[in-house]
Order: sequence, then structure tokens, then C-alpha cells
Amino acid sequence: MSTKDYLEKDYYAVLGVPKTATAEEIKKAYRKLARQYHPDSNQGDPTKEAKFKEVSEAYDVLSDSKRRKEYDEARTLFGSGVGAGQRAGGGGFPFDFGDLFGGTGQQSGGAGERLGDLFGGLFNRGGSTRTTTSRPRRGQDIESEVTLTFTEAVEGTTVSLRLTSSAACAACTGTGARAGTTPRVCPTCEGTGAASRNLGSFAFSEPCRDCKGRGLIVDDPCPVCEGSGRAKSTRTIQARIPAGVADGQRVKLKAKGAPGENGGPAGDLYIQTHVKPHAVFGRSGDNLTITVPVTFTEAALGAEIKVPILKGMPVTLRIPPGTPNGRTFRVRGRGVARKDGTKGDLLATVEVVVPKTLDDKSRELLTEFNTATAGEDPRADLIQRARSE
Ligand SMILES: [Zn+2]
Ligand SMILES: [Zn+2]
Repeated sequence: MSTKDYLEKDYYAVLGVPKTATAEEIKKAYRKLARQYHPDSNQGDPTKEAKFKEVSEAYDVLSDSKRRKEYDEARTLFGSGVGAGQRAGGGGFPFDFGDLFGGTGQQSGGAGERLGDLFGGLFNRGGSTRTTTSRPRRGQDIESEVTLTFTEAVEGTTVSLRLTSSAACAACTGTGARAGTTPRVCPTCEGTGAASRNLGSFAFSEPCRDCKGRGLIVDDPCPVCEGSGRAKSTRTIQARIPAGVADGQRVKLKAKGAPGENGGPAGDLYIQTHVKPHAVFGRSGDNLTITVPVTFTEAALGAEIKVPILKGMPVTLRIPPGTPNGRTFRVRGRGVARKDGTKGDLLATVEVVVPKTLDDKSRELLTEFNTATAGEDPRADLIQRARSE
């Protein structure tokens, strides 16, 4: 029994049971009808004989839970996926459901995958896993990810990425036909992949039944891809990561995804970036940040200090006398590259450090300093303000 029969015949109606009928109800209905139409009891009446066959066929399918499930699924698909026009016509189902039921043995995926394949193949919708039409197809978009050092992210870099995508089978160049052979143009639709059909007042176009809408027929399938025309391909590409990417940013590289087919454009490549933190530098948008330790005397007297930059020789930063702890100085143009080619700044924040130990000489001098500044109480104002509230 072909899957075509599944779609043309209403076995429930034949047995006169509802779709929700239990196995017992189906059995009962069958027995009754079988007795009624049995060849032994109707002396070769051809109408009754045909009816008996029909009833037996319906029972064969509906009494087997696995086949009943397949039957129900096929009819559900038919109803929702293809439209009611053909059903109204009642003139038979035009498509080959071989793929759906694994008849060709090409697909190993689940029912959902096979379903996608089926409709992709029939209607040339996006998402089909086949390369079966000769129409240009855009390659897949590919997602990848990369971990960069802090410096690579700021400066930009080129990374090697191994990409796996579904591509045209190399053995048959995606045609699905054995190497050295070529698919022939479908004679039924003359390569258009479409057939038009008249159903009384309805006329509509549907995928060609003989080539499943491909426009081509493969007589001798490629043994490598079993005629699917598809293969997993692994490529290593050099991807340029632009300067200034941030941790977690998604970089789009146009046309670096899977190659297109039949002259179609390549898909895009999306790279999720992870950026490792730096031991010294931080990021604040386009600016780099750094905390620079200074001594009390440098802060108090003023100083010229060396500040490292991400790349190149340290720069000199002038700290004015009386610099408070935590003040941030801006070193222009030493930050992260922007799209327009300019650069952000380096924001250097001073942090006054206190010596952990003092030698005798230093202690003596600091004690002297303390005596000299005894009149200054940095907390006088604080205590006053605390009271005033
Ligand atoms: Zn055709
Ligand atoms: Zn192949």
C-alpha cells in the first residue's frame, strides 16, 4: 500500500467509525462489514467485492497501531501543510511522501527534520537541507566564538576559526548525481519544478510531482551523499576582528559564512567575542583605565611619573603639587581605537601609597614634618559638618 493511498482514502469513513475510535470499536465495525460484504456471501457481486477489499484495507491499517499513527500523521500534514484545494477536488494526492516515511533512506534525522526537508524540497523554502534546485541559494549564516586577549580586543587581530557548515557535497558538487553523470531536466515540468492543475473553477500551481519541485531528476545518485547533494564541510578561515571589540560583543563578518550555491551569495559569520581581563588595564567604553600608585610626597610636592600604555613606551604624566588621592588624569589618544579611526583616552587614576616600613632617617624626617604641620587638622571641618546636620 503506498503512502499515496493514505492521503486519498478515508479509512475511518470506510469503516464508519470516528477518528477517535478505540481498537475494539474498529474491530467490531470491521467484523460487521466483513460479514456483510464477504465474497462467500454475495455470489461474485463486483461492487460488494470491491467494498470488501476496501474494508479489509482500512482494517489492515487501522488495526495496526504503528500504521494507524503514520496514517493519521500523513493526513494531518496533508490538511495543514498543503491546503484544502486538492482535498476539495478529491482527485488524489500529487506528492511523493516517500521522504516523509523514510522511503528513500537518505535522511537519518527525526520526523521533524524530514518534514522540513520535505517541504523545503517541495517549495524551495529557506531551511531546506538539500541542494536540489538549480536556483542560486544564499549560504548559511554561521555562529562561532572566539576568546581574545585584552590587547587583541583593543588593537584588533586576525584569528583562525574552524567552521563547520552544511555545504555542497564535494563529490557531486551538490547536484546529488554520481560524479561524471548529470541530473537531467525533468521532462514533466521542463525544469520549472512547477505543474499547474485545474480543478473545476480552481487552477493553481503546485510542485512537480515527478521531480518534487526540483526541476531535475537524478538517475544515478551520488554514493557519497546518497543523492542529497549535501555534506558537512569543515573549513579554517582567517577572520579579521576589528579593533575595539568589547567582551560579549557579536561581530558580524559579512559573507564569511557558508558559501552560496549555484552562484548565490555566501552567508554571514557571527562571532561572539570573549575578552580576557588585563592585569593592569581596564576598559570604560573607548577609554582605557589604569590605577597608578604614587607616594605621599609625589602627590604633595608634585612629580613627573611614568605611566605604562597598552602598546609602546610609557608616557610621562605630570602630577601637580597637592594632588589628592583618587584624582584621574587623562592621557589623550592612548585608549581604544574607534570606528572613525580616532582613539579614546587613557584615564590614569592616582592612588597614594603609604610605606609599610620606615628606616630611621625617614622616620626622623616624617616626625619633623608632623611637628611642622601640627596645626593642621584635616578632620576639623568633618567634625563641624557632622554636627551641623
Ligand atoms: Zn518536474
Ligand atoms: Zn554527492
